[in-house]
Amino acid sequence: MVMDLKTKARLISVGRIELPEILRPSGPVSTAGPGAGEKNVFFRSGEGRVRLSVAESSPLKLAELKGTEVAIFENGHEVARGFLEKPLLHCPRQAYITVSERCIYYCKFCAVPKLSGDVKSKERVMKMVAEAQDTGELEAISLTSGVERSPEEEVERVADIVRSLRRFDVPIGVSVTPALRSSKILKTAGADEIKYNVECLDPDLFGKVCPGVSMEKIEMALLDAVGHFGENRVFSNVIVGLGESDRALREGIDGLAEIGVLPVLRAVYPHPLRRDEIKMIRPSPERLVDLARFTRKVLDEHGLRGDVAETGCYRCTGCDLIPHRDL
Ligand code: SF4
Repeated sequence: MVMDLKTKARLISVGRIELPEILRPSGPVSTAGPGAGEKNVFFRSGEGRVRLSVAESSPLKLAELKGTEVAIFENGHEVARGFLEKPLLHCPRQAYITVSERCIYYCKFCAVPKLSGDVKSKERVMKMVAEAQDTGELEAISLTSGVERSPEEEVERVADIVRSLRRFDVPIGVSVTPALRSSKILKTAGADEIKYNVECLDPDLFGKVCPGVSMEKIEMALLDAVGHFGENRVFSNVIVGLGESDRALREGIDGLAEIGVLPVLRAVYPHPLRRDEIKMIRPSPERLVDLARFTRKVLDEHGLRGDVAETGCYRCTGCDLIPHRDL
């Protein structure tokens, strides 16, 4: 049974899965994405892929079948069959690396400021990518970063790393907090794609969930990014489940597509470190499908494509329903 759109939406909506001991991932926990600080598995079924957090208890259970085949069961019924993919660095086939695992901002849904982890040197990033390349699986590099001291300094740090990473000759995507001239700096350094996350598209809610961050500045930076990177090469994460209205979401998605930006609609992840600070409700499968269909429609209207991305989440597809790939 191949995972179809509705099944993937259901799996994303639940977000976590129980695994038999033998299949539990043994590598380091991921430091990027919604499951930062937690163990994840990647399930591949047909052309589709989904990332799920490993949990002690969940309505979803993974079972081994013959050989490498596995199946996902919900309440005793098989919902999809496929196999587990080994992540390269964070996700399959990409070296997806968090440079600064800390942040001076305090967006209320994000675990990074609370985890306050390492800041990786250029040498360490180069070594990680070289080891990923040695596996023969490296197809893209994605760099993400919090903000250790200031957005300007972080952009310079990441640009310097990008310049050195060019030698691996694979596409490079970057996701950072925008700073003055950041798109020009990162494009000149050799980045192919860029992501500036607006996170919340409801203007009434934005100031509450991302205090100290300017929504307007992010939108201006996205517009500038399209000028430097071109259409289909600029992305922005949009969280679904913070209490935003569907009207504000749809208007915001349309506004992003209108300027040539591809929205990454991300189901909110109520991280254990943040659960008590803000109301976070995982979107239903129906809401996810509905919003994904709407996004696909507006991308079509604006002549954008979700299947040309070479890096990051539009290429990985693990956490979201990606237009032109999943639907
Ligand atoms: S979709 Fe993005 S955040 Fe999710 S696992 Fe893939 S690369 Fe990571």
